[in-house]
Amino acid sequence: MDRNGSGGLASKRSLRKNAGLRTYDENVMDELIENQLGSSKRKRHKTKEEIEKETETEALIALSLGFPIDGLIDEEIKAGVVSEMGGKEQNDYIVVRNHILASWRKNVNVFLSKGQIRETVSHEHDKLISEAYDFLLFNGYINFGVSPSFMSTIMDEGMEKSVIIVGAGLAGLAAARQLLSFGFKVVVLEGRNRPGGRVYTEQIGQKGNFVAADLGGSVITGIHANPLGVLARQLAVPLHKIRDNCPLYNPDGSIVDKQIDTEIEVVFNKLLDKVTQIRQMQGFSKDVSLGSVLEKLRQLYGVAKSPSEKQLLDWHLANLEYANAGALSSLSAVYWDQDDPYEMSGDHCFLVGGNRRLIKALCEGVPVFYGKTVNTIRYGDEGVEVIAGDQSFQADMVLCTAPLGVLKKKAIKFEPELPQRKLAAIDRLGYGLLNKVAMVFPHVFWGEDLDTFGRLNECSHKRGEFFLFYSYHTVSGGALLIALVAGGAAKDLETTDPTTLLHRVLKVLRGIYKPKGIDVPNPIQTICTRWGGDPFSYGSYSHVRVQSSGVDYEVLAENVASRLFFAGEATSRKYPATMHGAFLSGLREASCILRASNAMPSCIKKLGLKNVGPSNELLTDLFQYPDLLCGKLLFIFDPRSDDPRSIGILRLSVGKSNSQPDYEDTNHDSSTLPLHLYAVLSREQANRLQSVSGGDSGRLLYLEKNLGLKLMGPSVLGKLENSLALSIAKARRRPKYRVVGGLSTSK
Ligand SMILES: Cc1cc2nc3c(=O)[nH]c(=O)nc-3n(C[C@H](O)[C@H](O)[C@H](O)COP(=O)(O)OP(=O)(O)OC[C@H]3O[C@@H](n4cnc5c(N)ncnc54)[C@H](O)[C@@H]3O)c2cc1C
Repeated sequence: MDRNGSGGLASKRSLRKNAGLRTYDENVMDELIENQLGSSKRKRHKTKEEIEKETETEALIALSLGFPIDGLIDEEIKAGVVSEMGGKEQNDYIVVRNHILASWRKNVNVFLSKGQIRETVSHEHDKLISEAYDFLLFNGYINFGVSPSFMSTIMDEGMEKSVIIVGAGLAGLAAARQLLSFGFKVVVLEGRNRPGGRVYTEQIGQKGNFVAADLGGSVITGIHANPLGVLARQLAVPLHKIRDNCPLYNPDGSIVDKQIDTEIEVVFNKLLDKVTQIRQMQGFSKDVSLGSVLEKLRQLYGVAKSPSEKQLLDWHLANLEYANAGALSSLSAVYWDQDDPYEMSGDHCFLVGGNRRLIKALCEGVPVFYGKTVNTIRYGDEGVEVIAGDQSFQADMVLCTAPLGVLKKKAIKFEPELPQRKLAAIDRLGYGLLNKVAMVFPHVFWGEDLDTFGRLNECSHKRGEFFLFYSYHTVSGGALLIALVAGGAAKDLETTDPTTLLHRVLKVLRGIYKPKGIDVPNPIQTICTRWGGDPFSYGSYSHVRVQSSGVDYEVLAENVASRLFFAGEATSRKYPATMHGAFLSGLREASCILRASNAMPSCIKKLGLKNVGPSNELLTDLFQYPDLLCGKLLFIFDPRSDDPRSIGILRLSVGKSNSQPDYEDTNHDSSTLPLHLYAVLSREQANRLQSVSGGDSGRLLYLEKNLGLKLMGPSVLGKLENSLALSIAKARRRPKYRVVGGLSTSK
């Protein structure tokens, strides 16, 4: 049975209808991602019709990223991107904005400059380009992530503001990178001795044969607009699509009858539909729980009465408790699914090697101080003071990304105390548990073609115990199986001896596989999580509890006095309880901090992207000694890194004879000087260009069509090119570096 799909079992919101607002053709995004991942499929030449369709396609891409086809998002309205709503200016803005979004998504590895956009959009729209570009850049819609170019690109040396970030989870790291790129001074204080927070990939198994086990956040739920998908592409880390097949087993180990399986799945979905209908017709009081309504409806309709049907329904309910990290008796019947319309579409995926690869990349270049448990945050007109043990840190602003569980426990003291409405929201929102038992086996005994299988429990109160198994053999480097423990069972696990747990889970597995004649070996190593007892999270993730609503997420996100800011999954109304929600909340707060900082009178210089390209002299100097030469294309790279992702500059000289290599002659009078065109690209892209046949024209075609890069005139070169050129020049001046004389050539 298909339980995964785009609304499937691996989803945070499993087994229910897809979000109603999704109206774009998902193939558009699939194709874009496939092209990005370097599909071998060569793109055909565009016909005239296809070109005409480009604007439409760009609109669809923007739609998939959450931008309406014919309107502005709230943030754009707030930012005042157009002077008049609804008119021609707005329409033109939307076209330009969509073009910028689509252009960057085509190649998320390279910083997209305003100059590049100016080259492709008529000059009459320069003002709109600026509005759209600055909005998208400073709100984290373009040029974000872990590509090495982003950090140094828009650094403004005049920015003197400093920010302390509490917590090096996804929210904290995303914010830190973004703020650094805006030119802020940033320090991250992390209580643990590792980064990642609730994203934690542990190396388990035997020496020489370790596997990567994601003990916290694991599934990238919906790849399309997902910023984590962007990071994976930037790092060239493959993703594994979680396959649909998910067999279910009865408590005695026999396979669940297909017909009953289908029938009960239909019943489950109808019950949820009924909840929605009643809600729309008469509403529920805020005190009513989803669990109580579902049970009343089940009794009313007399469904799932037999023990086997009840067990099967319980399995679906456990799945819902997993998605929400909360017992159904805690979830608000009115608002539990308030984030449904924003669910990310596309496949649900595991990241090969585990999510620590994202964390590792996000940490690069970010100053994180580990083992600094923050116990007090003071804030006021003069700035902030953050106390960790006997150390005090001062800055202009502080961003707190501590999990909701930590805030609920009041483990951090705020001085002055937080506003009452925020305290009340912290109290009301739900924060529950999901635990995992990770086991590395000597071999895969459950079948290579399975990513998931489920198991029914006899009693309702234990329905969440080992109800679902994830197989990570495709991505972890070994025979790793992770059993999920949700709902009430997740709480029980915290106080159960690990040996007892292992004994129980092996009994479940042997019950399923022994009758099939398959021997279940003892695992090489097992780990049981206890997220509830973890003093840096006190639970797994948030949900909308009875009495609460989606508004509470927004209240949690509110800053206090433009000095104290909040990010983290529980501050994300649209994407709570997810890794991408945490990441996006970090980007969101970085832009809030930037705005607040710009409004502060003492801020010496406002940020802005200026066209400050490298000087002609510098470029002439550098291209005298290219690192690679290929026809008329010359390349220079920073000699300190041979990482294929490291970026450099390409130069094409037009108006010269092929036989006279450009790098040899530098002293011409201007009438005979060639026109130089430039592009920024990675080493890996340069290597690909080198192997293209068809001479310069073949390579230029490949540059544009396959790599999605455009050549730029010197006047539109910006800060990225400048900082690249400067850093290459600096590296070449280092004594250890010698300009390589033997250039590799290809025609
Ligand atoms: C078991 C489990 C499974 C999950 N599965 C998925 C999934 O499949 N897909 C998905 O999208 N999401 C999943 N999630 C949710 C996802 O992992 C989180 O939403 C996300 O990682 C939260 O990131 P964050 O930055 O908001 O918080 P965190 O990652 O918790 O970061 C906060 C940081 O603050 C630090 N900190 C706390 N208190 C202090 C203090 N006093 N001083 C200094 N530092 C402090 C913490 O150590 C931590 O590093 C799962 C979570 C869990 C626990």
